[in-house]
Formats: sequence, C-alpha cells, structure tokens
Amino acid sequence: MTQATVVRKTAPKSDYKPSDVSPQRRVQRSYTVRLWSVRHSRLLEWFYGRFADAFLMLHPLWKGLGYERVEAPVKFVEKRVKGFMFDCRMCGQCILSSTGMSCPMNCPKQLRNGPCGGVRANGNCEVEPDMPCVWVKAWEGSRNMVHGDAILNVQKPVDQSLRETSAWLRVTAQSAAAREAAVQSEAKP
Ligand code: SF4
Repeated sequence: MTQATVVRKTAPKSDYKPSDVSPQRRVQRSYTVRLWSVRHSRLLEWFYGRFADAFLMLHPLWKGLGYERVEAPVKFVEKRVKGFMFDCRMCGQCILSSTGMSCPMNCPKQLRNGPCGGVRANGNCEVEPDMPCVWVKAWEGSRNMVHGDAILNVQKPVDQSLRETSAWLRVTAQSAAAREAAVQSEAKP
C-alpha cells in the first residue's frame, strides 16, 4: 500500500471535493518543494551563509531584547519557512548544511548518519515507498555544495530536549559566544 493510498483512506469522508487537490497531488507537492531545495542546495548554501551572518550581526539586538523573549516569534517564522522549504520537523539542531539541504528528520527512522540498508532499487524509502530516501537526496544535494563534504562528518544523536526550539537563535548565540571568546583570548597578554 502506497503512502498516497494511506492518506486517501484516512481522509475524512465528505461530499466536498476540492478541485485539483487529490491526496496524491498533495503528497507529491510536498516532495516537490523539498526536492527543489535539494536541487538548489548550492544556492541555498550561499543564502544560508549570508542569512547566518545577518542574524549574527543582530546578536546585540537579540541579547538586548533577551534571547528567551524573541524565541517565540523567531521560532514561528523559522517553523513556517523551513517547514515549507524542507518539511522541517523542528528538531532544534539543524544539520541541513551537512546533508545537502535534505532534512534527515523526514527519514521515518530519523537516521542522522546516512541511510539504512532498506533503500529501494529506485532510491525510495522502504517505509514510505512513494518518498525518495532523504539520504539518497542528501548525497545528491551535497555534491552540488561548496562544503558538501560535511556530509561525511559524524553527527551526534538528536537531543530531544531541543525539539520545537529555534536552531537559528541557538547557532547565532553559539557563534557570538565563540567570537567573544576568540576576542578575549587575543586580548590576553
Ligand atoms: S535538521 Fe532539524 S531543524 Fe533542520 S530542517 Fe531538519 S528538523 Fe528542521
């Protein structure tokens, strides 16, 4: 049974049939954006670099307002933008730049260090046969990226306590702390 069939069977029954939106189309559309992001991983890598720099420049603002106070609005935006682009699951510890812009949390087994042994011959997932394996796509996306070899880095297990938190703010705060530590060590005689 395909994922589209499961979606169709579990959809609530009613006479209302929206035109042009079948469960199959809906499933394909979500993959369409996700796959577009992988195909354009180099462009997104460049954009994310500039975006991270801009966020870091705003560190004094985040700090002045209080990171904990800006968490909710930033998370609101991050969830929607990354949800649309990558089907983000808000794990809070984003590794898109190391996975060819293919979110590993879409793997039904949530593997963060490569695919399982069940990838189908057509490159699709063994659990969700309609879905391209996120790790097959991750490898393809990484080959387009300047720092694509980061896919070879071993990733730490997911810290579940960080779920539903903003990875953007966390990375910014960590980068700011590293930058301040570097400045202080240079200032020491
Ligand atoms: S790795 Fe985590 S934060 Fe990044 S897109 Fe996937 S679920 Fe979202």
